[in-house]
Amino acid sequence: MKPIIGITPDVEKDDKHFLRNDYMQAIIRAGGLPFIIPIGDEADVAQIVGLLDGLLLTGGNDINPILFNEEPHTHLGEVSPSRDLFELELARQMLAVDKPILGICRGLQLLNVAVGGTLYQDIQQQYKGPILQHLQKAPDAHPSHFVQLAKGSLLAKIAGSERIQVNSFHHQALKDVPTVFNISGIASDGIIEAVESVDKQFVLGVQWHPELLASNGDVVSRRIFEEFVGVCVNKNS
Ligand code: MN
Repeated sequence: MKPIIGITPDVEKDDKHFLRNDYMQAIIRAGGLPFIIPIGDEADVAQIVGLLDGLLLTGGNDINPILFNEEPHTHLGEVSPSRDLFELELARQMLAVDKPILGICRGLQLLNVAVGGTLYQDIQQQYKGPILQHLQKAPDAHPSHFVQLAKGSLLAKIAGSERIQVNSFHHQALKDVPTVFNISGIASDGIIEAVESVDKQFVLGVQWHPELLASNGDVVSRRIFEEFVGVCVNKNS
């Protein structure tokens, strides 16, 4: 039995779901059985968590800053309030039962907020010091900037290297990261690009889009999905 991987889709003005095929194909390629989880009632999250062997939190709109006790900055983008609340509950309950989570882009930011962390609402405006182009103008699967990986981290082991090249499509980034996460990837400008749980079996968040790189054949990106799906065990097996 293949592990069942729930994937949260993006929402448009809270009335339409959409999900890039690359996420689903990356899970299928890695041996998982993907199921899209519509944004629903938080009261149903416990039942959904019971059905899942793993959770993939995907990219999308900005996270409502109220969720980390800030008011909206002028350069905050579009937010998805119902998606935020539903995904936060999903993430918290998955963490509570120690089921594997992979967070991508907004998914990484969501994970950080779920454990009490904060975000830069706009790195261009709020980050101190010069920054790289994190909203790349190059094609989707073009690796544009480097990420330095922490020695001995899960990500460094997956990559088989301590320096990888990634794509970049974000204007927000992690600010304060609670100690339940280790920072395992950082860009040359200091922007946090990856975190992983210190005590869960597999909780990894990356700021880039490995699903797009994986579609283009990138070996490290494919290995991220293989490692994730590999630890997700189908309870009916
Ligand atoms: Mn970046």
